[in-house]
Amino acid sequence: MTAKIYYDNDADLSHLKDKTIAILGYGSQGHAQAQNLRDSGCNVIIGQREGSANYDLAVSHNFEPQPVDQAVSAADIVNILLPDEVQGDVYRAHILPHLKPGNVLMCSHGFNIHFGQVEPPSGVDTLLVAPKGPGHLVRSEYVKGGGVPCLIALGDGASDGTRQIGLAYAKGIGGTRGGVIETTIAEETETDLFGEQVVLCGGVSELVKAAFQTLVEAGYQPEMAYFECMHELKLIVDLFYEGGLSYMRYSVSNTAEYGDYTRGPRIITDDTRAAMKQILSEIQNGQFAREWILENRAGAPAFKATRRQDRELELEQVGRRLRKLMSWIDSKEV
Ligand code: NDP
Ligand code: MG
Repeated sequence: MTAKIYYDNDADLSHLKDKTIAILGYGSQGHAQAQNLRDSGCNVIIGQREGSANYDLAVSHNFEPQPVDQAVSAADIVNILLPDEVQGDVYRAHILPHLKPGNVLMCSHGFNIHFGQVEPPSGVDTLLVAPKGPGHLVRSEYVKGGGVPCLIALGDGASDGTRQIGLAYAKGIGGTRGGVIETTIAEETETDLFGEQVVLCGGVSELVKAAFQTLVEAGYQPEMAYFECMHELKLIVDLFYEGGLSYMRYSVSNTAEYGDYTRGPRIITDDTRAAMKQILSEIQNGQFAREWILENRAGAPAFKATRRQDRELELEQVGRRLRKLMSWIDSKEV
């Protein structure tokens, strides 16, 4: 089964004409989508709480941010671009009471709709338009004349008119320049969580941590371990990005390629595959979502403790020191 992909000619911005779009949250996605839509000629208002850097940022971009309730009341299309873990509470208190039949309720990640934290009232369609990249890239690519590819998905029972609105919205943020893939809210949510848990965030971080620790425990210098197991990862991932596994293997030495074929399968074993299946089923049956929602209700103690601990890992300390000495790296600190 190949995916349906939409481009510029499949989308018509006139479906957003005479509509007011409320962007709720002026963070990573909010600041990017709001500005792109405005530059595409759409009528955009911002719902953003006062007293934060994001409020000031919106003002500095010539928006007049208003409280979330007010922005929802004034809008035809409402896009919730708040952190996933706060969306349920903000939705119940400040969004739901102000939605009207005919409104379209949007998001850029299906977590809350899929797991029942955001339930639209009757007469309101849900719609997902999800850029496949961080907000700063959504903005910078658009400004350059490009666009970050997006996903589009309709909520249960949404009309074809809502799909037209979604495609127009995707065009307004630059997505149809890169390509917009049709999916479902379930597929977007489940594959997104799986990818970040198993490969992009969880899998890669643990792989790097374990490999670094193995070398250091064996008496090798931590600086060497850092370069081998962390720094060089970027060079390899860039080759994946440009030409897939084959191009990476073409580019590295034959020795590295032979080690890849013969040793890689000893790291990712049948046990690892079984764990992947288990993690996928915890995503599908809602166990992960419940755990994360409860963790947040409790003030996220375990989450914050782990974050603190991992910031102090030797891997992180060595890395901070080495990156400072590589003047060409635009090094970042949190
Ligand atoms: P950010 O954390 O960057 O921004 C969140 C915004 O919500 C800020 O403006 C923040 O304002 C506001 N906010 C936070 N907490 C509250 C609250 N309790 N009440 C009211 N406003 C609040 O979020 P992202 O842009 O990263 O994520 C938004 C959505 O986009 C999520 O669904 C995410 O999954 C999705 N997404 C994100 C991507 C990314 O790369 N970041 C990629 C694709 C999708 P304040 O400054 O006041 O805290
Ligand atoms: Mg993702």
